This record gives sequence, C-alpha cells and structure tokens, in this order.
Amino acid sequence: LVRLRARLARSQGSLGKGLLALLSRDKLDEEAWEDIETTLITADVGVAPTQELVEHLRTRMRVEGVGAAQAREILREELVNLVDPSMDRSLKASRKDGQPAVILMVGVNGTGKTTTVGRLARVLIAEDKTVVLGAADTFRAAAADQLQTWGERVGARTVRGPEGGDPASIAFDAVKEGIEEEADVVLVDTAGRLHTKTGLMDELGKVKRVIEKTAEVDEVLLVIDATTGQNGLTQARVFAEVINVTGLVLTKLDGTAKGGIVIAVQRELGVPVKLVGLGEGPDDLAPFEPEQFVDALLD
Ligand code: GDP
Repeated sequence: LVRLRARLARSQGSLGKGLLALLSRDKLDEEAWEDIETTLITADVGVAPTQELVEHLRTRMRVEGVGAAQAREILREELVNLVDPSMDRSLKASRKDGQPAVILMVGVNGTGKTTTVGRLARVLIAEDKTVVLGAADTFRAAAADQLQTWGERVGARTVRGPEGGDPASIAFDAVKEGIEEEADVVLVDTAGRLHTKTGLMDELGKVKRVIEKTAEVDEVLLVIDATTGQNGLTQARVFAEVINVTGLVLTKLDGTAKGGIVIAVQRELGVPVKLVGLGEGPDDLAPFEPEQFVDALLD
C-alpha cells in the first residue's frame, strides 16, 4: 500500500499540487477559477465533471467561508465524491453453482489486456484460486505466446488455438477446460481490433454467446490505457456499445499525470474502475480505491 501510494503520488501528484497551489492564491477571482478549470480539463477530468467540481468548490468556499487552509480538505472531499466511492468495485471471481467464474478481458490492442490477464491471474492464484487462461486474441501473432508465458510464470494452464483461429472456439475450449478442471476462474483474453464497430461487435458478441452455451460470463473488463486521454474515452464508448462492460481497468497510470481520466471514463460509462495498472512489473496491478487515489493525487 505504501509503495502504491508513493507510485501514484510520483506519477500523478501534479494535478493535486497544481490545484492546491491555485486554491491557495490570496484572491480567488474569476481568472483563478478559470485556471482551476483549465487544470482539471487538462488532466482529462472532462468538462462536465470539472464544471460540477468547480461549482461545488466555489459555493462551499463562499458559503462555509473557507479559506485556503481548509481548501485541501474540501477539494479532497469533492474529488472523492466525483470518483464515487459508492460504486461496487468488487470482482466476481469465485466459483458459483458448481461453475468457474468467467472473466472476459476486452479493449483495444496495446492497452495492456494480455498483461492485465497475466497479472490478475497472479493475484487470484495468490488467493489460492485455480485459474485457466484462454488465449482468444488470435489476431496479434505473439499474444498467445505472451499469455502462455504468463501462465507458466504464475501457474495457470493456458488454452490456445492455431494462429488466426476462431476466438470464440478458443474461449469455449478454455471455459470447458475450466469446468472440467473445476477451476475457480477462467480468464479470457480477446483481440481488440477497432477497425469497424460491426466487426468488433460480431467478434466479441460471438465469443460471449459461445461461452454462454456452457457458463455465465461474470465480468467483462474493459482495459483502457490512461495515457491516451480522450482517445481512450472514445474507444471506451465503442466497446460499451457492443458489449455489456461490468468494470474498467485503467492501465499505465504510472505513465501519466492525467489521473483525471478515471473520473471522466467512469462518469461517461457509468461503470466502476475496478483495477489500475501502475507499471510494467508482474505485481503492478492493484484494486482501485477512490480515497487512496484522491490522497495520492493530493499528496
Ligand atoms: P494488449 O495488446 O492489450 O494485450 O497489450 P499488452 O498486454 O501486450 O501491453 C502492451 C504494453 O503495455 C506492454 O509493453 C506492457 O508491458 C505495457 N503495460 C501494460 N500495463 C501497463 C501499466 O500499467 N504501466 C505501464 N507502464 N505499462 C504497461
């Protein structure tokens, strides 16, 4: 936890520090508030949430007669509210009704899907769960090898098919294997070709339908690269239109000072961020905790 905070602080401190510096100005005139808005928008918080936050801050600082000294606490409270601590961020990753939990990992190529599958497997195995990996990303040539390497490293069996094979049939085989092995969780990696929306819809829809012949899909986790800003948001919208996303994974938060994307994307899709990627290492995946995230922003 300490390490996570340090890392978040190092990577994203600039948003909080910038805001606090602005809020501690002697005079909070129109120009100062505009600067605060710009800082938030530049950090990818999004226009609507920014306006909401600034509105609340202005009102509270006026009504409660708050000076710069208490501004930090108010800013903290308002940021936590924006991140919405009431959302259920738990992961459905336990057997139920005698079946393994099935988790689909979706997202555009390069966002960190395969890495996230490997790291999530590692987390689950550390909780004494048995995990089967499905290498249904048959589009990117090295994806199945990469996943299998993860599997060997963390102790999960990887089900794969021929290169360019049918993703749905690999997903089906992985789930079948999970059922036969009485595994706790089956994690299915998918390809994220965003060439056309119908192509994506056909492929992901088929993967899901085929799995649902034998098991329920418990989670569809959409992986978003936090460094891609508004682009990531646009991609997220497309995925949310083609499949019922149950949770978000924001990777590469270590590579951006724009932690605000967490707020924007959650707000946009109405789906909670459940996991964050904080580096390239095998244990750089963490559950997302709003309070901790905001504290790191403000540290
Ligand atoms: P995929 O195409 O979506 O399966 O993406 P990969 O899992 O292959 O990841 C693409 C690249 O992003 C790899 O070099 C990963 O090491 C890197 N990556 C994934 N997650 C993170 C993260 O949280 N932080 C950083 N810095 N790099 C990451």
